[in-house]
Amino acid sequence: MQSGFKVEGDKVTLSLGTSREDGVKQVSFRISHRPGIKYKRVRDLSITYDKVSGRIEARLVVEVEARENNGAGKVAVDLGETVMMACAFDDGTVLLYSGRLIKAVRRYWQKVRANLKQNSRRWKRIAHREKKQVEHLLHAATSHLIAECVQKGVKEIAIGNLNGIRESIAYGDRLNQRLHAWPYRKLANMLKYKGALVGILVRDDVDEENTSITCHACAQVAASNRRHRGLYACSCGWRAQADVNGALNIFERAFQVSPVKGSSGRVARPAVVSYRLGWHGVAEPKRKGKFLRASA
Ligand SMILES: [Zn+2]
Repeated sequence: MQSGFKVEGDKVTLSLGTSREDGVKQVSFRISHRPGIKYKRVRDLSITYDKVSGRIEARLVVEVEARENNGAGKVAVDLGETVMMACAFDDGTVLLYSGRLIKAVRRYWQKVRANLKQNSRRWKRIAHREKKQVEHLLHAATSHLIAECVQKGVKEIAIGNLNGIRESIAYGDRLNQRLHAWPYRKLANMLKYKGALVGILVRDDVDEENTSITCHACAQVAASNRRHRGLYACSCGWRAQADVNGALNIFERAFQVSPVKGSSGRVARPAVVSYRLGWHGVAEPKRKGKFLRASA
């Protein structure tokens, strides 16, 4: 699109020039904005028409004003499938975001697609719908987490090295394939740009090796400590949900300090909050104010 454009609020106006035979000089349409974000400058606008889906998409490349951030807080995020994000905060809180709905959505559309010819029109349309639904849910979860971070004065988020995730998965090929398709990269990118908007640095350089099987209390490395239903239980007495244990280990590795270990060597119980994802956003835990405890 060579013509000029103008963005006012949520209204975009394209100038088409004066040479069109039909006499149309401009077209206007509305776009959905991310609420509460001020654009410094709109750098570029591109409009594409997808013949398969019949959709017109407008993409804006914008420069935004990052909000000032005077916080000093830190968070480590363990990315997974059933629990898509286990987030350990430096105040000893751990937030768990369930990945069950995304799993169900993916499974559902995979089943629908299985009966269709690959790359056919209908197959592509369904793949597009699945992608949009998964993205919608990823947006809900990442926006919720970033809002929590802002509230808690977080300045830095550490996540595992994504290349490491793939290498460390040594299950069968089928499961491997499924996990590879799990949108970790997309999730990480959303955290990065949403974090940048509020002045939070998101780094993805933490080596995750063994963080899921290491005891956070005594540092013993034992895969057998991972029990049924995601419980991590060590002979030293430490018991925690496996994702909570993993997130605390990633925190310690990223920041060289544990959010729950005192100077006396005593390990405190983290305050765990479990969030479910719904189509209309992140559902608050049923028992508000009463945290589920990680340890027995
Ligand atoms: Zn232990």
